[in-house]
Amino acid sequence: MDQLQKPRGTKDILPAEQAAWSFFRSTAERVLNGLSFGKINTPLFEDKRIFERGAGESSDIIEKQLYLIKANKNEENDELALRPEGTAGAARAYIENGMSSQPQPVRLYYFGTMYRYERPQAGRYREHNQLGVEIFGDDSAESDYLAIMSALEILKKLGFSDFNVAVNSIGCPECRPKYLKKLKDYYADKLSKVCPDCKRRYDINPLRMLDCKNEECQKFKTQAPQMVDSLCTECREHFQDTLQYLDDFGIKFDLDNTLVRGLDYYTRTVFEISAGNDKERHSTLCGGGRYDNLVSILGGPKTPAVGWGMGADRVVDLLKDNSLKIPKPRGVEVVILEIGDAAKKVCRQLFNSLDKEDINVFYIPSKLSLRSQMKSASKLGADFALIVGQQEALTGSVIVRDLRSSTQEDLSISSAIDMIKEKYSATSE
Ligand code: ATP
Ligand code: MG
Repeated sequence: MDQLQKPRGTKDILPAEQAAWSFFRSTAERVLNGLSFGKINTPLFEDKRIFERGAGESSDIIEKQLYLIKANKNEENDELALRPEGTAGAARAYIENGMSSQPQPVRLYYFGTMYRYERPQAGRYREHNQLGVEIFGDDSAESDYLAIMSALEILKKLGFSDFNVAVNSIGCPECRPKYLKKLKDYYADKLSKVCPDCKRRYDINPLRMLDCKNEECQKFKTQAPQMVDSLCTECREHFQDTLQYLDDFGIKFDLDNTLVRGLDYYTRTVFEISAGNDKERHSTLCGGGRYDNLVSILGGPKTPAVGWGMGADRVVDLLKDNSLKIPKPRGVEVVILEIGDAAKKVCRQLFNSLDKEDINVFYIPSKLSLRSQMKSASKLGADFALIVGQQEALTGSVIVRDLRSSTQEDLSISSAIDMIKEKYSATSE
């Protein structure tokens, strides 16, 4: 039979890599729980209109990258899509679960896989993992600050020290049309030189011309008119307040006048964070912004909101590239080796006493020789082997062998238990 392979742009995360992933997840959860975010899980697939209405039909993730799914017997004839991002689903859940009648703001976070039909390359997958936060129900710059700060806090706790934070404001439906007109005037005589995508964007979403990855198109954006000059009073004040918070808390940032982000639902503040350690690839780890109209676009009450998504695969790759310290998960700590039936009673007693102390004890009686059992114990990666043979069973003693230093001593059963307990209570502090 031919050997089947995983789909393009997907990957397996093997046991050796899991420590970095758990470190990422547990650090993020610790930081976000500590900032009063609550975790939410939403389905991997939703009615595709949820993504279309939110992200905008002209955005790349809808226009080119959406995975549509059809069940074999799709009686309701729904069109479902695998989620390309987490915000639209979170906003849908916020509305559907009546969270708008809870005390505001409601702070949520999620972690999960996202699906985009991309051209696979380093740091770009068709199935990738995102951590994300959403703050619903607060229009003050306080929440813009909290969003940016929480992302940086996670990255800092993971061991990164140097960041590039790019921020911009893309205004609101009041002031943006005026700016878009200026932008279109600017691009009008350049249309023959931009890429086909940008030609289309010119008509349906000119802001996204600033976001084009094409080199030729990028040349034009430096001279383009800037949104900040066209902001209405409210948007300008909101942006100033946000920057003031960043300043007050010593968060360095770059004003990036061409930063717009790929999705239509953003309003006002937009931001992107990359790590300074990532000099070569400069890939964005985290992108987000304010989306004051998304909840109402999805049929909910008018609700201001701000959030971000962080590419977990990229963060984990960078953790490994920079050899940042990843805590080792607990594996097997103690192995009990029972040599002969006479040792059974003592071994049970050892197992029960240590298991109660939450020590990871591996005890599966084997008929093999001491020598081969010792070999298996080393393979398990245990720290200690407790060896009980007929002789020990008779005298009520245990051979305690330290597998790392290959030294051993004879102890009474109770001293052996005490000694092991003490080791692990000391290391777990
Ligand atoms: P990019 O400009 O790199 O395509 P994006 O604007 O599409 O990013 P967002 O939708 O803001 O990305 O997603 C948030 C984060 O998720 C990104 O900053 C990135 O770290 C990560 N990300 C996005 N797409 C992928 C992907 N295909 N594979 C891995 N990570 C991704
Ligand atoms: Mg993208």
